[in-house]
Amino acid sequence: MDKKPHFKAIIPNKSKNSEEKFKSFFNNASEIMLVVDAKGDILEVNDTAVKRYGYTREEFLKMKINELDAPDIPTGLRKNIKTTEEKGYSIFERVHFRKDGTKVPVEVSCSPIVYSGQKAVFAIVRDISERKKAERLVSEIKNRDEAILYSIGDAVFATDKDGKILLFNKMAEEMTGISSKIAIGSHYSQIIIFIKESDGKPSNDFILEAVKNNTITKMRNHSLLLRKDGSRIPVADSAAPIKNIEGDIIGCVVVFHDVTKERQIDKVKTEFVSLASHQLRNPLSTINWYSEMLLSEKIGKLTQIQREHVQEVYRASQRMVSLVDDLLTVSRLELGTLVLELKLVNIVEIVETCLKELNPEILKKKLVVKQKYDQGVFLIKADPKLLSIIFQNFLSNSVKYTQSGGNISLTIAKEKDRLQIEISDTGIGIPKNHQKEIFTKFFRADNAKKIYTDGTGLGLYIVKEIIDQTGGKIWFESQEGKGTSFYITFPLLGMVQK
Ligand code: ADP
Repeated sequence: MDKKPHFKAIIPNKSKNSEEKFKSFFNNASEIMLVVDAKGDILEVNDTAVKRYGYTREEFLKMKINELDAPDIPTGLRKNIKTTEEKGYSIFERVHFRKDGTKVPVEVSCSPIVYSGQKAVFAIVRDISERKKAERLVSEIKNRDEAILYSIGDAVFATDKDGKILLFNKMAEEMTGISSKIAIGSHYSQIIIFIKESDGKPSNDFILEAVKNNTITKMRNHSLLLRKDGSRIPVADSAAPIKNIEGDIIGCVVVFHDVTKERQIDKVKTEFVSLASHQLRNPLSTINWYSEMLLSEKIGKLTQIQREHVQEVYRASQRMVSLVDDLLTVSRLELGTLVLELKLVNIVEIVETCLKELNPEILKKKLVVKQKYDQGVFLIKADPKLLSIIFQNFLSNSVKYTQSGGNISLTIAKEKDRLQIEISDTGIGIPKNHQKEIFTKFFRADNAKKIYTDGTGLGLYIVKEIIDQTGGKIWFESQEGKGTSFYITFPLLGMVQK
């Protein structure tokens, strides 16, 4: 066979000029180029091939292209030549050997040509070592990350944007009782069921919220995981959106862990607080009773200084009584032992009684209190003690946190199908950075601590728990230095036991 280059045959336009152009393109190309016949015999190679493989042109022309392949990998030579003929091209990856024995991963792109009057294949061979290295690295990182996630002590699952599970680790398998084989590919809502401890209703919404609001969301307090066998485990943790490098949300990762022990410890602590508070009540009543008796001067006159001291004792014991009452309410709410005693009550009467108790303070601070009550919503079904706790807390806060001469307004109205209560003041307001924590147990904002040192940070926590547990809703608006408005709504009929 004539082994001289036959570029004339390769190019459709057989003019001398274009043949020269192709020859120069073939020889000067930075890519490796070869021409092989239908059997795989190498008919032509370019200078880059000679340089990269280390074979001379003459050596190449005595070889078959599959002699460049690593011997342990099946070549599929015939199939590749056939595909090239049938489809008009073929692209495949191989590992080639250089003359010095070193390996190089390559991508071969083939197109059919007519070379020297016979059917042949024109192949461009690209060194893909760097790409392979990068692919290996990515897969190593992926495998490592997956291995970490798989063996981590918390249950983890990840979903795509549509909620289809992509990853389900070992702990998730153990906790749910569902194997990753079944979980992966299913929608998470069919596999993972979180429910509220209080009413058994679903509490998966934090997952949707994480994706919708592009933020980390916490699982609702007191959530349970419903296992495959029907048993329930108390769980806690969070969901976070997964983003690609462009910042688009492409899925969600959910982490959760068993909090049975923490819940048990919490319960023991709460029971202890409950017991201690009960025990504190008796001695406190004694202190109260004796200081009241001394102040009444029935058993003898007090000097001015004695009176002041006894008054201090009396005030301190009053504060202690109210703290002990708060702690008892908290423990009842947390232990779930709060029993609602619902009856038809006049809400305005309750508000007015609470306001009357605060009257000395209101007068002292010269506060202006405005009330607006809509007719027809006065009678509701509620637990009067709990309703009093709610109003006492809101109103006493407004009185405490509003400077002398300020305003407090109280509105009770019907809003659509609900009863809405608004308590607003022109007081110190709640700083923006503290607003998220305002319903947290023992939390007090810095500006409040400055003007009123005695607070406990229990009031709003109690109020929120009561409202949540009785079918109500609560929210607020506040601006530091300007004032605060708290809003509560209940069904028109009143409280419901949840
Ligand atoms: P306490 O009043 O005993 O501190 P609460 O639980 O009733 O506890 O209130 C928690 C915190 O919420 C307060 O310390 C204060 O920072 C803030 N707060 C509540 N009500 C008001 C209000 N009307 N104006 C300004 N801050 C308020």
